[in-house]
Amino acid sequence: MAKIKQLSQLEAQKIAAGEVVERPANVVKELVENSLDAGSTQISLFLEDGGKKLIKIVDNGCGMSPEDARLSIKQYATSKIDKVDDLEWISTFGFRGEALASISAVSKLNLITKEETNQLAIALEINQANIEKETFIASNTGTEISIEDLFFNVIVRKKFLKSKDTELRAIIQLFYAFVLQNLNVSFKIYHDNKLLYNCPATNDTKSRIAQIFDANLAQNILILDKISDNMGLKISGAISKPEYFRYDKNQIFVFVNKRWVKNYKLSSAIIKGYQGMLQTDRYPAGAIFITIDQKFVDINIHPRKEEVQFLHPVVVEKFIESAVKEALENNFDKNLGKNENINFIKKSEENKLNTKNYNFEPKFYNQENLNNFTKEFKENNLEKKLEENKNFIQIIENAFSSPEIISQDTKNSKIIFENQPDDINNKNKESITNISQDALEYTLIGQTKLTYIIIETAEGLVFIDQHAAHERIMYEKLKTNFKNVPRIKLLFPQIITLNQNDIKTLIPYLVLFEDFGLIIEHLNLNQLVLKEAPIFLNSQPVEDLLAQAVSLIDQNQESELILIQEKLQEKLHAQLSCKAAIRAGDQLSIETMNQIVKDLYKIENKLTCPHGRPTIWALSEYEIEKKFKRNYK
Ligand code: ADP
Ligand code: MG
Repeated sequence: MAKIKQLSQLEAQKIAAGEVVERPANVVKELVENSLDAGSTQISLFLEDGGKKLIKIVDNGCGMSPEDARLSIKQYATSKIDKVDDLEWISTFGFRGEALASISAVSKLNLITKEETNQLAIALEINQANIEKETFIASNTGTEISIEDLFFNVIVRKKFLKSKDTELRAIIQLFYAFVLQNLNVSFKIYHDNKLLYNCPATNDTKSRIAQIFDANLAQNILILDKISDNMGLKISGAISKPEYFRYDKNQIFVFVNKRWVKNYKLSSAIIKGYQGMLQTDRYPAGAIFITIDQKFVDINIHPRKEEVQFLHPVVVEKFIESAVKEALENNFDKNLGKNENINFIKKSEENKLNTKNYNFEPKFYNQENLNNFTKEFKENNLEKKLEENKNFIQIIENAFSSPEIISQDTKNSKIIFENQPDDINNKNKESITNISQDALEYTLIGQTKLTYIIIETAEGLVFIDQHAAHERIMYEKLKTNFKNVPRIKLLFPQIITLNQNDIKTLIPYLVLFEDFGLIIEHLNLNQLVLKEAPIFLNSQPVEDLLAQAVSLIDQNQESELILIQEKLQEKLHAQLSCKAAIRAGDQLSIETMNQIVKDLYKIENKLTCPHGRPTIWALSEYEIEKKFKRNYK
């Protein structure tokens, strides 16, 4: 066996550094925390190459004396605790006097600092934990620390650093958290000499959110404020109204006792509070501050982890969920109380008119019957029903591709619709005489609630969600011949405003959209411009589409480009078909309804829309008979 050797001080320190810093964002966290501890009211960050080349922080805090400056980079050097007895305090805030020492061991660190009472600032050049140069220069009170070439002497770690964009994203996420939590501090962040965010001090979370997220979000914010008589539990902060949403959880921030924590359960609790108000896959934005008696919480002291453990997690989660729910409900009530009341009445009037507007009204189904059907349809859990009816749907599917059954059942069809327009009858006759493999024998009953197409087939009644079905049809069409889609040059190019971070993410991928008929160009820091679009997009806003693309790129950062491309393509197809598809509320002509039914039944994946919602729900003849107590055999 090899002889035991003691590692040199520097080697040991390099290893220890791994405990504190793994990536540029960890360094930023330590530095910003130090600046805040020093009472700074202005903090500026300058980054190069995602922080890999340079992280510089400039603050206007209390600064350090020359002696303290020299000591600050030594191990276990801290001004924040005196004795080991302060351990409880340490565990709360994580002071260990280790950060600067560790960082200096794995980088080239420059420190310039001046206390108010001193004339000159001390400037130290530190290379791998060694002070190599010391000078005195003129400078403002406060501290400037720059970290160059992180991990230049720890090749394994350097190798594991991610791309510039990924590292920058992690830093920006952290920056958001600091900014949200410290309203009274002005923050700025630059990357490669460009100002990314300028956030002057403010006195409310709402305007803070506006500074860093979309302007869109600022108008859609609700304030949270709730106190529990349990465990000193309190919640404050702000959340987005359901009108605003993202396709990722990147704008959900939770703080527990003033520390940003990443806890899946807590963000889930927020999302749960929105139940029924946001579609699946859509997420709110928010900054939530929870205070809880120290006794009931354990915030992991590991410097890199932002984990939190509660003694009674479920109580905390329920509390968050109910606070969110209450805020949303209050907002809803308030709106109803105001002008929307009028709209509300108008809307229901419109609905009344619309229901009379069935494309044709078969005698068998009077208004009441139809309403009941729709009601039952809505009240029942679609998913479950679909499951229950799988067998039935299977039968229908078989029936559609089996000529014998079709013709037989058409003959035996017991339900008669007297006022069917002639052209339908003719078309039906045509298809009876001309049965092909994918022909479907059905009778069109009509449209209800301007949302569902109802047809009668051999087995019973089939409801088709017009939007979901058309979406699926469009999706399949797009999938096969997207490149041939005609596109138009927009007379007035559409400006798309997104947040800077999202724009940065998108820029390298903009070419990709050309394949989809979308010519999008980079305009400025937070705007893109759409110049050409596929013709069927009907000048629908593409913000949503781009937002989805951002979350997709984010989630697949480390994947091969080709994989991202494929996934993006899939999403785009789904998204474009959704935008292009007819919507619920569109009144459909008989031709359109027939077209949808026929197209849908030709498709292999006909049972769900590209987002996974069901397109078809069938009510079997058996079930109808059961309802009327006719199945007494
Ligand atoms: P800790 O924060 O746990 O004390 P650090 O290694 O992060 O350990 O910092 C060491 C010491 O350096 C701090 O205790 C503080 O006295 C001093 N220090 C670090 N950064 C600053 C700053 N920006 N302004 C003033 N003092 C600082
Ligand atoms: Mg520190």
